[in-house]
Amino acid sequence: MVVLVVNCGSSSLKFQLFDMRSEEVLARGLVERIGLSGGKFKYYRGTEEPIEFTDSQVYASHANALEAVLKALTQRDYGVISDISTINAVGHRVAHGGELFTAATLITEEVLRGIKDCISLAPLHNPANVTGIEECMRLMPGTPQVAVFDTAFHQTMPEEAYLYAIPYAYYQKHKIRRYGFHGSSHRYVAEQAAELLNKPLDRLKLISCHLGNGSSICAIKEGRSIDTSMGFTPLEGLPMGSRSGTIDPAIIEFLVKKENMSLDGVMEVLNKKSGVYGISGVSSDFRDLEQAAAGGNHLCDVAIQVFCRSVKKYIGSYYALLEGLDALIFTAGIGENSALVREKICTGLEHMGIKLDRRRNLTPDAITVSAEDSKVKIMVISTNEELLIARDAQKIILQRSIPS
Ligand code: AMP
Repeated sequence: MVVLVVNCGSSSLKFQLFDMRSEEVLARGLVERIGLSGGKFKYYRGTEEPIEFTDSQVYASHANALEAVLKALTQRDYGVISDISTINAVGHRVAHGGELFTAATLITEEVLRGIKDCISLAPLHNPANVTGIEECMRLMPGTPQVAVFDTAFHQTMPEEAYLYAIPYAYYQKHKIRRYGFHGSSHRYVAEQAAELLNKPLDRLKLISCHLGNGSSICAIKEGRSIDTSMGFTPLEGLPMGSRSGTIDPAIIEFLVKKENMSLDGVMEVLNKKSGVYGISGVSSDFRDLEQAAAGGNHLCDVAIQVFCRSVKKYIGSYYALLEGLDALIFTAGIGENSALVREKICTGLEHMGIKLDRRRNLTPDAITVSAEDSKVKIMVISTNEELLIARDAQKIILQRSIPS
């Protein structure tokens, strides 16, 4: 089976084409600055060097971008399939499924209406996802389309985890609650961990730390998310590259008054000028922060400490909720690559049975980085949300073809 995975952003389109027999990526690419000037389309066949297209026809609109992608995939010289009909299914990453979607879903007219109903919860992301779906339906009529939601994995959280302590009427009226994000990543690494540990997922207690430009932590009991750090929006929880994470909500009113700022202005600061960038004033990228901190920059060092302390606090509280822990998982750009961050987070957690092996932690590509006598396994697992989306799409198409 051949599955195309599409991730449509407001001005970008990322894709990967999988041969699901071997789960090999046949081709992948990215169209940037859609609808803006100076866009480009970078196309990779297998592991070859990329080909770049800068013709305005590839980035004038999402429709143009998708047409260019399908043309490249079927092109005689650098394509990987002979015809679009070779694609058996398209899997779409969808940011928000609200309370409507608890798992990946075959897209019908009704499902598409449901995704549109969630636009008020993700006004920046769901409209682009809808555009991607509608364009694929137009260009590939008859090819099944599957939606995989960032929020779906967390729909198993109990009421006491997802309700905020504000008047219940706001939940009833506006559906204000914790949704959580990065669901596909947390689910993917949890499934990988179970496989690597050679234990059934439904017997494991896991904490997954997705630490990247956006970061979130998830407590996973018996394969189900029971709590997560992001909330109603991806602004809550850990301090991130440029997002503040959780702060005292009274700071917002204080800033509006003291800095004579608009509410939109404050929200912009919390989303784009805060986090480790806000503290350090240097960068949102941990590579830059680590380098500057090593060179004696105090604020870069503090920014890293604030981040690691926050991760540590979540690990402690999720350990309490899970009533124990089998494995602590690190994933995403920082989690997978920063030995320093992993060490700072794990140092001091030995009394909880979380004991890092410092040498293994420094070994590139090491998966298990805990000490032999650590009660809890510490694992570094590369996330692969696209593969999870392709697997979900395949599963749904195979189920559909089995007569009931
Ligand atoms: P992601 O959002 O998962 O792509 O993660 C991107 C972030 O990972 C970057 O902004 C960096 O902060 C971080 N990162 C990537 N590589 C490294 C590295 N070798 N050391 C430290 N941080 C890294």
